[in-house]
Parts: sequence; structure tokens; C-alpha cells
Amino acid sequence: NDENLYSLLASGFPADRDTVCIEAPGAGDYSWREVEALSARMANLLKSLDLPDGARVAAHVEKSPEALLLYLATLRAGYVYLPLNTAYQEAEIDYFLGDAEPSVVVCAGKNLEWVSRCAQRAGTAHVYTLDDDQTGTLLDAARQAAPEHAVVPRAAGDLAAILYTSGTTGRSKGAMLTHGNLASNARVLHEYWGWRSDDVLLHMLPIFHVHGLFVAAHGALLAGARMIWLPKLDVNAALRLLPRSTVMMGVPTYYVRLLAEPGFGRETCRNMRLFVSGSAPLLMETFDDFRERTGHTILERYGMSETVMLVSNPYDPAQGERRGSTVGMPLPGVSVRVVDDAGQPCPPGTIGNIEVRGPNVFQGYWRMPEKTRQEFTADGWFKTGDVGRWGGESGGAAVPDGYLTIVGRSKDLIISGGFNVYPKEIESFIDDMPGVAESAVIGVPHPDFGEAVVAVVVPKPGATLDEAAMIATLKARIANFKVPKRLHIVQELPRNTMGKVQKNVLRETYA
Ligand code: ATP
Ligand code: MG
Repeated sequence: NDENLYSLLASGFPADRDTVCIEAPGAGDYSWREVEALSARMANLLKSLDLPDGARVAAHVEKSPEALLLYLATLRAGYVYLPLNTAYQEAEIDYFLGDAEPSVVVCAGKNLEWVSRCAQRAGTAHVYTLDDDQTGTLLDAARQAAPEHAVVPRAAGDLAAILYTSGTTGRSKGAMLTHGNLASNARVLHEYWGWRSDDVLLHMLPIFHVHGLFVAAHGALLAGARMIWLPKLDVNAALRLLPRSTVMMGVPTYYVRLLAEPGFGRETCRNMRLFVSGSAPLLMETFDDFRERTGHTILERYGMSETVMLVSNPYDPAQGERRGSTVGMPLPGVSVRVVDDAGQPCPPGTIGNIEVRGPNVFQGYWRMPEKTRQEFTADGWFKTGDVGRWGGESGGAAVPDGYLTIVGRSKDLIISGGFNVYPKEIESFIDDMPGVAESAVIGVPHPDFGEAVVAVVVPKPGATLDEAAMIATLKARIANFKVPKRLHIVQELPRNTMGKVQKNVLRETYA
């Protein structure tokens, strides 16, 4: 009765363990046999440390095949994996280690000095290094350990990972995910997206978040499919490797970057089966341009650290078409509802709060019981903090088609002069104007209106935009209370590593 997630993943490994599991340009090929053996060695090393039950193993390392194996080793040994964004510096690592109190920290060799200081302050006993050139004290020690390891049995309700949220709306919170949460999502996506053993996944996402670690890597591992492992988005490498790939996952910027390459097109994608986008909204323009250029329809899905994936556009055309600007329908076994502030279900076309229930939903925020209580309803639904609607245009004739559209985060809603303003609505009007590449609409404090609508707009290369003319155009098209009071023209929007626009940064800048 072993519900360790590793056992599920391993059940998908191919019978011929000498085939390639991870192809890492520059670092060579890793067979399934090597993946099993090296993760077993690391698991044995972790076990030899005699860590307490539920111990956290924190990883603040560059992406490499070994970094993924450290994750698998942590699962195998029954401990809790805690990945940390590689961009974090000393003050941030102090917070995360202080909060999570891991027993083991693995860091890049070049950061050893300051990470050790943080570890000491957090009472972490073991610090190892792991670099992306197959060196470091973790590997030195692991090579001394045996290459066989019997998976430590875990129950579905045992913690497998703590994933800190991206911190887009405030300080990152540690989402506690169990073996059961991750296994249920891996199984569902395996079926729903039609994973196959002859798939080749082009993996360019970071592995300290749900998207790269759970959605992408679990998918390939459970299918017994090969991964081409790049440390990050590399457009030239992608153009070279896509022709022999079948699956790619990216944040929207990845697709924008590919489309900017004149050499990217049908030929590049000739073997592709599936392009997935998520973590941030995919612009309709990108969705349309991509289809036109490649003949492929990007599948957009919606997920978060707290729930893994919850809603997805269909893969199988028999289940429906993939619709741009929507994230699709609830995944099998996952319940999603859109409700008003009183908790009543919203009819199709009406915007409300998105809530979710299902085997994928996390156990709560690490050491934040109060916050956890606030984010669940009395009847057990998790409040995602995102707002959206079922079916077609708000205001227009609502089509109850079962597709969910996200219109933003509740924290980004603007209340101006007592009226609700949904930033996404204004953004889509601005994005449709000539010469506009993209935009972000925010609310800033205003003495009369409470909040005033402000737009931050990025022009297309070579285009010049005129603030006054654009505001005049908007005035003729939308209600006055929605029209931005100011429209700032900038060269780019501030984004975090997951391609999310940091509206809190914009709110500060333009306050
Ligand atoms: P924090 O919770 O710390 O403010 P975060 O919510 O950005 O940060 P994540 O858990 O990494 O942290 O991201 C989940 C969020 O990403 C979702 O709640 C949603 O707002 C957004 N998101 C994910 N997929 C999509 C998508 N396809 N379209 C629009 N937004 C998306
Ligand atoms: Mg969030």
C-alpha cells in the first residue's frame, strides 16, 4: 500500500532502462538506469543523515539533470522537497530557511559562504553544494552511497513538497502538497493530454515551480518519455531542437519569443504534438499568430502552487476546441465554481471569484494556519484569489459553454468611484489599438475616486504612441469611469521569472 509519488512515476519508466530519460545538451545523456541509480545514491545519502520524519530538503541550485534527481531522491527517501528560486539572495533565503527550517540545504558552490550563514541562522544541520557541471559535495558524497534504494512507503496524505508561491501579490507562502495531491494531478494530466512513451519533451522551464517541476517533468517521467533538458529558454537551441520534439511547455513569453524568430514556422514544428501555455495569461494575438504560423493551437491551462493544475483546454478535439483567452474546463475529478462575494454561484457571463475543490488541493500554507483558514470556505472550497467567468463575453449574450475565462486577480480589481473595473477588459481594448504590443492596467490611490485607473503600455517595435490620442479613443469606446486617467508608455513591463507581470511593482511606481 505504497502511495509514494516516486513509485507512481517509476511505474511509467520504460522496460528498457538503457534508453534515454534526460538528454542534456552539453552534459550528455542520462539513461533511465542512471536516473534510478543516481537518485538512489542521493536517497541513501539523505537516509544516512538520520533526519527526522517530515524533514525538509531545500534546493537552491541551477537547473541541471542532477537537480531533478535530487527531487526524486527526496521523494524516494520520504522527505519533503523544497525548491527555491535561483534568483533569491541572502535576505530572501534567510526568510525561506527561517520559515521552513529545512534539515538539509543544497546550494550552488559560488553561494556556499552566504547560504551557510543563512543555514546556521535557521538551524539547518547539513549544507551541500551542487553545480550544473556535475560537481559539488552532494555528488561527492552520493557517489559513496549504494546505487540501490527501496522506496520509503508514504501515505497519500504525507507531505511531498512545500512550494513557495511566486510572490506576485505579496510575500511568498509555502504551499504544502502531499504525495496524493501530486499523484492525482500527474495521473489526470497523463490521460487528459495523451502523454505517450515516444514523446520527446523540450524542457526549458525553471524547476522551482509547479509548471516545470510538476506539470512538465512529472508528465514525461510518468509516460517514460525522453526530456531534452535546457537550463532555460534559449531560442536558438529551441529552433534546433523543436524539430525532434513532440511536446513543449512554456510561459506566454516563450511563445512570443519564438514568434519573433523569422525562421520559426511549420517546418520547426513538424513533429510537434502539443504546445502548452500557462502561469500567466496568453494574449489572443499570440494564440492567433501561433496558429497561423505553425498550424498548431496552443493549449492554455490554469494552475497554481496551491492546487497544481485545475482547469485545461481540451487536448482531444472530441472533447471540444481549444479556445484562446480561455483556460478551458475543469480537469476530471476537479470541481471549480465561480461565485459572488456572498458565495452564490454566478450565472454564465457574470464575473466572480474562482473556487476549487478536489484531490489536487493542497493541505494549507506552511505554518500559517490563520491564512489557511481564511482561504478556505466553510464548505471546504479553496479560494484561488483569481476572478473569472464561465462562457462568453460579460455583458453580451452569455454562452454557457463550460469554458472558464480568467479576468485577473481579486487583488488587482480596481474600484473607482464605487464602480468595479476589471483590468483585463481595459487591457484588451488597449491591446487592440494600433502600435500596441501589450499593456497592464492598475489602480492607484486617488483622493476623489478611491482608486484611479492607470494604464502602462508597451509599443510595438518602431511604433510611437500618443497618450492623449489613445485616451480620447478609449473615451469614445468605453464608459468614462473605466478610461485610464493616465497612460504611461514604457519599453517593457516588469515581470518575474514565471513571466508574470508584477502589478504591485507598477502600483508602487505609478502611485
Ligand atoms: P502569490 O500567490 O505569491 O501572489 P502567484 O499566485 O503568482 O503568487 P503561483 O502559484 O506561481 O504564484 O501562480 C498561480 C497564479 O498564476 C494563479 O493564481 C493565476 O493568477 C496565474 N495563472 C496561472 N495560469 C494562468 C493562466 N493560464 N492565465 C492567467 N493566469 C494564470
Ligand atoms: Mg497566488
